[in-house]
Amino acid sequence: MSKQIAIDGPAGAGKSTIARKVAAELGFIYVDTGAMYRAMALYMLKNGIKAEESDKISATCDSADITIRHENGEQVVFLNGENVNGQIRTEEVGNMASASSVNGDVRRKLVELQQKLASEADVVMDGRDIGTVVLPNANVKVYLTASSRVRAERRFKELTAKGEKCDIDVIEKDIIERDYRDMHREISPLKQADDATLVDSSDMTIDEVAKTIIDLYRKAI
Ligand code: C5P
Repeated sequence: MSKQIAIDGPAGAGKSTIARKVAAELGFIYVDTGAMYRAMALYMLKNGIKAEESDKISATCDSADITIRHENGEQVVFLNGENVNGQIRTEEVGNMASASSVNGDVRRKLVELQQKLASEADVVMDGRDIGTVVLPNANVKVYLTASSRVRAERRFKELTAKGEKCDIDVIEKDIIERDYRDMHREISPLKQADDATLVDSSDMTIDEVAKTIIDLYRKAI
């Protein structure tokens, strides 16, 4: 049986940084499921479909062929054969991903792909429903969070480092709205699995969080 570490939590909690580090240290593959929802959202945007057109999203999602490859330890997402890594990190795609991920047909398709990947290799997988839905028997489940202010500060630093002008209060408001949507949707809402360990990274370094998860894994196996 392949080994599985599930990391869920709200936007900006540091899931991808931590998951990538834990995967590198354990020699596992890192699977970023948010990138799959983002690729699906990009497909909808390219087809002129709007967030509220749920029938169109359902009818269209099967023609989006989303595949994942790992190149030099990095996940590369392909949408109908095209590498879309460079196109999925915008706010527009992130907002569409948050809106279209409430769709049951989108989720069914992507969960199937995620479960297939986890059956073929040892994985650290991050997302919103990994411990609750995708990998219910994962060896370790972590719910990683941080205060909305700390998460907004991290995002603010990232954006200003890229030379983008932004307002920290607007970022925090967006984060709170996205959390609300992810936590209150009907299908697979973001919540801590009963058997997940809560890790609040507000006052922890990346190394401390990664070590906490690796220690949990070593105890579990
Ligand atoms: O994590 P990231 O911000 O890239 O995810 C984009 C959006 O995809 C999230 O806001 C969330 O709504 C959705 N998502 C999800 N389930 C996952 C991963 C992401 O619904 N497992």
